[in-house]
Amino acid sequence: MNEVKAVKVAEFIVPLLPGQYKFRLRENGEASFYFVCPCGLCNKDGEGGPDCLHVVSDISKKKNDNRCWVWDGNEDSPTLTPSIMSPCWHGYLTAGIFKSC
Ligand SMILES: [Zn+2]
Repeated sequence: MNEVKAVKVAEFIVPLLPGQYKFRLRENGEASFYFVCPCGLCNKDGEGGPDCLHVVSDISKKKNDNRCWVWDGNEDSPTLTPSIMSPCWHGYLTAGIFKSC
């Protein structure tokens, strides 16, 4: 199991570092969560930009699909559920720590 601290950034600047993230807040507790894959191997040159998830802080707004995550509303040490799966990484973001599983 590997842990990567999530680091909030104002803007993404190349070279991207694993675990960097930024929220773009939308209305009604919805947000886009941009993050750099914690694997540490991909996306260093920033090509394609950071990954993006749609998150909601109100669980009743969670859309019934697998591209929507519930966020605890904490911008500085976020928790998202359920787990995050990318082509090269699967794990959890809990209280600002990406933990692979
Ligand atoms: Zn990766």
